[in-house]
This record gives sequence, structure tokens and C-alpha cells, in this order.
Amino acid sequence: MDDLREQVELLESKANLSTSIQDIQKAIDLLTTARAKIAADPHTAPITLAKLQSPFKQALKQANDDLKPVYSSLGKYGKALDKKFKDKPLPTAENDALSSHPQLINRAIAMHLLREGQFSVASTFIDEASRNPPHPEPTASTPNPYLNESWEKDLATGTFNSQELQLQFAEMYHILHELRQNRNLGPAIAWARQRSDTLEARGSNLEFELCRLQFVCLYAGRDDDDIMDESAGGPLRAWAYARSEFGPFQGRYAREVQQLMGAMAYWENIMDSPYRRYFYNGSAWEDVAASFTREFCSLLGLSADSPLYIAATAGAIALPTLLKLQNIMKEKRTEWTTQNELPVEIPLPPAYHFHSIFVCPVSKEQSTDQNPPMMMPCGHVIAQESLEKLSKGARFKCPYCPTESHPHEAKKVFL
Ligand SMILES: [Zn+2]
Repeated sequence: MDDLREQVELLESKANLSTSIQDIQKAIDLLTTARAKIAADPHTAPITLAKLQSPFKQALKQANDDLKPVYSSLGKYGKALDKKFKDKPLPTAENDALSSHPQLINRAIAMHLLREGQFSVASTFIDEASRNPPHPEPTASTPNPYLNESWEKDLATGTFNSQELQLQFAEMYHILHELRQNRNLGPAIAWARQRSDTLEARGSNLEFELCRLQFVCLYAGRDDDDIMDESAGGPLRAWAYARSEFGPFQGRYAREVQQLMGAMAYWENIMDSPYRRYFYNGSAWEDVAASFTREFCSLLGLSADSPLYIAATAGAIALPTLLKLQNIMKEKRTEWTTQNELPVEIPLPPAYHFHSIFVCPVSKEQSTDQNPPMMMPCGHVIAQESLEKLSKGARFKCPYCPTESHPHEAKKVFL
């Protein structure tokens, strides 16, 4: 892998197009200046054109020369790739699940570009995708490719509201920029305050986290060079801020607010105080930026990370295992017939575990939509079928504790 990485670094440092683009821009500038000169006084045309020839030729030659290292590095990179993956053929798409849903794939790409803030690329992509609609092809699991829901068709029918999403994400990136680059909490706090009720209903701490960081910033009274203000001015400003802003937090965050107030007593030696962790937390800004992104996306009904990115990464992690499996199946001449299910466990990092599964402790079966987990009043959970079998519709004793209950007191658990 190291030689590949080396080649990529080489490509990034030596073989970029920026110098060529500059040279081409120079050539264009030469042409436009000449055109303006001739337009202003047509008599100068012959001399202007004659004067133009040599520098223009030189500019083009320069641009071509700059491209040479690009070509050579690309060639070397291609060779390194071939060498690295010589005996590793790409997996064949025997279990192709994607050809029947090209519109959805286009939609996923468009959404990814929008949420990454690549607005102009996204709009070109959406434009081209709707001008050249792809043709769904039947696959094993989807013999009749069709799109059901209106949101599935929106990219195809031109009703995909990219403008609205773009506005939303532009706001998100503006707020994130203020947070990360300018250490300015104002726009984020204003955003959270406007949606205070919704955020609280979701159990989010975002608004408090932002205001707490604002308090810490005022307390520390840092100037641009991150030097602590030695006077009591900072703590006093923080005190005033807390008095005017922390009122609504008293109920839910009484303890945290008390701790911040306790820090006031240590204004001269906060470094040695028990409150040090609030004031010297290197990741504080990145933490609030991450929780802001998460809340912003979830209010839009989106996950914090791009699903396309997650799917591609999980796929890249799974590929070596699947390739190995394919080889084994070929050698043993066996087949894998189960649709929509992977034949082997693919170990993915914890952040990629989305749906917890529930196995009923009574029947040892995994729960399904038809047989969901049910929680009895005592807090123990078993599958619905087990509940029905045990209770036979009447009061029954929990298999795991002495509590008795009626089956209709059990609540469905959503994982
Ligand atoms: Zn119980």
C-alpha cells in the first residue's frame, strides 16, 4: 500500500493542473487584451496581431510543458495500481441489486453532493441526470423495476427540490464556517434558539452546549492570540451572560449551570480548579460543530453522515471478504442462493451498526416486523409470539421475574 500512497502524494504535489490552468489563463488574457486594442482602434490590427504571435505561442508551449509531469505521474500511478492489484480481479456483479434503480443512485449522488456543499457540481449533475434519464434494468431481486414513491421519482420528473436543499445546506455551512474558522457562536445559537422546542423534544443538548461554550469563551476572555485575560473582566462578562441567558436552562441543566457558577470562585486559578475540564477542552469547538451538524441534518430528516459515503466505505471494507468468498465458492463449485442477505459476517466498525437486532430469550428467534419485541411492565422483553404462547391471552408470570402482567399491558419495542 505504501508505494501506492507515495504515488498519490506525488500526483498531488507534482501533477496538478494549477500551473497549466494559470498558463492557459495567461494565453486567454493575451487574446482578450489584443481584441480590446483592435476594437478600440482597428488600424492597429496588423501590428497588434504580429506582436501577439510570439508571446501567445510561448504561453501555449508553456502550458503543454507543464502537462508533461502530469502525464508521466499518471502513467506511473497506473502502473503502480496494476502491480498492486495484478492477481485481484474486480468482483463480478452476479448479485447486481443496483441496475434496477439507477434513478435512486443518481438521487443518492445528488444528495451527497448537496450535503457536502458542492452546490455547483450538484446542480450540473442534476441537470444532466434529468436530461439523460437512465433506464432501469430488471435484476434478480427486482424483476419489474419501477419506482413507487413520489420521492423516488422526483429526480426523474424534475421535482427534486435541490434549490431548497441547497439553501438549507448553504446555511449549515455558513454556521459551521463561523464556528470552526471564526470561533463565532452567534449564528449557531440563533439557529438553535429558533428551534428550541423541536430540539428539546428530540432530547438534544445542542442549545445548552453552545451557550455553555459561549460562557466559557467570555470567562476566559481570550483575545485573538488565545492568551488568557488576567483581569476579572472575563468572569464578570460571563456572569452577566449567564444571568441573562441561562434562565431557560435552569430546569433541565440545573447541575451544569451550578458548576459553571461554581467556577466563578476560581477565576484566579481556574487551571488548578475542579472546573478545569470545561475551560481547557481542546475538542470543544469540534464537538459543538459535530453535534450542530447532526441536529441540523436530523431536522431535515437526514442522517449526519452521507449515506452514499457510508455505503461506499462499508462496501470497500466488505470487498476483500466477498472476493475471498467468491473464490472459495468457485473452487468448491457451490452457490449462494439467499437473496438480499450476505453469506458471511462482515465486521464493520461500531459507527456503522445501525439496526440493533433482538433475539427473543424464550424462543431464541430473531425478531421481525411480524414478530416484534414486546416489553412487559416489569421491563423484561420477549418476542410477541412467545408472549402469546406464554400468556394464552390471560394474566401470566414473566419468565424472568416474579411480576405478573396481562399481555395487553406489554408495549412494542422499536429498535
Ligand atoms: Zn420480568
